[in-house]
Amino acid sequence: MVSVTETCRDLSELTTAAQLACRLLFQECVKAGIDDIFITETYRSQARQNYLYEQGRTRPGSKVTWTLTSNHTSRRAWDIAVAPPKDLYNISTLSRVGAIAKKLGITWGGYWPISSYDAPHFEIPTNWKAPTGYELEGTVIVPSNSKIKVQLIVKDKGQAVEGVNDGKLYRVQSGTYTTQTQVNAAKQALGKYKIANADYVRIVQDGGKWRFITGTYATHVVANNAITEMKRLGVLSYAEAIQA
Ligand SMILES: [Zn+2]
Repeated sequence: MVSVTETCRDLSELTTAAQLACRLLFQECVKAGIDDIFITETYRSQARQNYLYEQGRTRPGSKVTWTLTSNHTSRRAWDIAVAPPKDLYNISTLSRVGAIAKKLGITWGGYWPISSYDAPHFEIPTNWKAPTGYELEGTVIVPSNSKIKVQLIVKDKGQAVEGVNDGKLYRVQSGTYTTQTQVNAAKQALGKYKIANADYVRIVQDGGKWRFITGTYATHVVANNAITEMKRLGVLSYAEAIQA
């Protein structure tokens, strides 16, 4: 049993439709150049919703919610924030995300009246479907902390991502590993942490040592973000982004 004071940021706790809606929203955001947003909460138990409602009412503090019947408890809502150096709830960024959400049929709490206004909040109606013309174009990295950038990892070379890149695709080429076991472990970690689609990671031999080369990333920046994340997770100490 998760404590009422704990925040769940796990996208997989939402309904299948809400997961798709959220991924599409992040995909369209990164294509529009917004890559500095991240999830701060997804599913909320009714017990936690009740607990939050008490704040500023029967418990000290300022009010953090206006309702006891949130769609977080129905697994159809998620909250986001903006990464530094911007303010956590940078309204110019949230408004741009809100406008993209509208195109996708996703409700943005920033359009709600002042009594329920909730700029970090997004949710879908029960009958939500992706609008015609919108689909996932690759693996979308939906960050749950401010250190990771939103990323769209296209499935393979040649699958262009409109509006996001310079027309080139990039791969990450690792430094060398001494043994094949080490490079295989690195490949598995890439898939596990969803930094790269493991199906597209190639292992190559290089003068008795081993390297991996990932599938493609939409832009040079995205590839470098992947490298940063690989380093942070200890998958490697050196890598470079190469043109695909
Ligand atoms: Zn919310």
